[in-house]
Amino acid sequence: MNTQIIPSVSHRAASIKPSSTLAITARVRAMKADGRDVIGFGAGEPDFGTPDRVVAAAMEAIQNGMTRYVPVPGTPEAREAVSAKLHRDNDITCSPDQVVISNGGKFSLYLAIQSMIDPGDEVVMATPAWVSYKPMVELAGGTFVEIPTTADSDFLATPEAYAAALTPKTRLVILNSPSNPCGTMYEPDAIRAICDVLAGHERVMLISDEIYERLVYGGRAHLSPGSLPSMADRTITINGLSKAFAATGWRVGYTAAPLQIAKAMSKLQSQMTSSVTSFTLPALVTALMDCSDDIEHMRKAFEERAALMESLIGTWPGVTCPPPMGAFYVFPDISTAFQKTSPGGRTIDGAGAFAEALLEETGVAVVPGDDFLGCGSRHVRLSFALEESAIRAGCERIGAWMTSLS
Ligand code: PMP
Ligand code: GLU
Repeated sequence: MNTQIIPSVSHRAASIKPSSTLAITARVRAMKADGRDVIGFGAGEPDFGTPDRVVAAAMEAIQNGMTRYVPVPGTPEAREAVSAKLHRDNDITCSPDQVVISNGGKFSLYLAIQSMIDPGDEVVMATPAWVSYKPMVELAGGTFVEIPTTADSDFLATPEAYAAALTPKTRLVILNSPSNPCGTMYEPDAIRAICDVLAGHERVMLISDEIYERLVYGGRAHLSPGSLPSMADRTITINGLSKAFAATGWRVGYTAAPLQIAKAMSKLQSQMTSSVTSFTLPALVTALMDCSDDIEHMRKAFEERAALMESLIGTWPGVTCPPPMGAFYVFPDISTAFQKTSPGGRTIDGAGAFAEALLEETGVAVVPGDDFLGCGSRHVRLSFALEESAIRAGCERIGAWMTSLS
């Protein structure tokens, strides 16, 4: 008999969309492998190599036999290094016991959300926001509550808007400054004002996703909410190697959290991944303790590219965009193109159609803004983590193509 078993997936797996940022990255990779001339503004990852010192530390650890299981939340040395880094750079006081090292900032976020959110809990976040927060909240059974923002306010929400979004069901607020996808950030006073609002809601915890903390431009200052006395006991600070150390493939992230939350995260991690890869831990110590020159070198390069991006986007017809302040993204409003027809005969009926037509007709990849929520459906995201010559060529192609829409 020829019976065919059709495997079915769980409701949970079926309910979640794949990450659109990673989907674009995969598509660009495949097009390049096919020999197509593609300029990729899609991937949110630095184009630099991981600093030599960090690589050497990992290689030395392998050669010295550091190839066995390590403690679930990381070695004492690595947790100590994270605690020292947070004290030195962010004015956050936390003991090594409060540190959990996980497989990328993304998994740190996932564990933190799983550790705090029960079905029915609300999680408040300003949008547009990175594509993975909402699915993570929903996988925990929580409700993702948006505070919609627009480009006019640099995509920043006011303290009043935060106050209005909080309900008795709110358990968590997530902040991501500098922001993916917006490329804007809160000034220290704005962070203080938002934390003043949260201080009056004792049940509400705060996740501060600081993965772009080192990439800030124009002399701006980053303030960690975890450094403020009113929020120190309720803030979960998340960071990692990916962005500041150009180490996206290493999958190393870290969290500093109140002890109870750190323990819960570690317990979940013990049943899920056991730990990060052993020999990345000495490399993490080297990165955090010994690489400030490397970081500054990359930051300066991104700062120059940010200025270049801003001036080139200024030449695109009808496009507006807040100037980039941090991270390596710009999020222009391209809705001027909507309801027009491309030279290839495609109708541009939204950001997805814009990105699709642009990629097919010019070989330039951008991420449509829809999955970043809020007003994102009028925007596309460009990552400027690519060489100046590619930025110039890509922006020129976009400008010319937009001019040719009819
Ligand atoms: N937060 C934000 C806002 C991000 O853009 C990313 C990018 N991947 C992450 C967290 C997680 O990064 P990773 O898992 O590579 O550390
Ligand atoms: N954070 C990066 C991005 O937004 C990497 C991909 C991902 O994890 O979403 O492109």
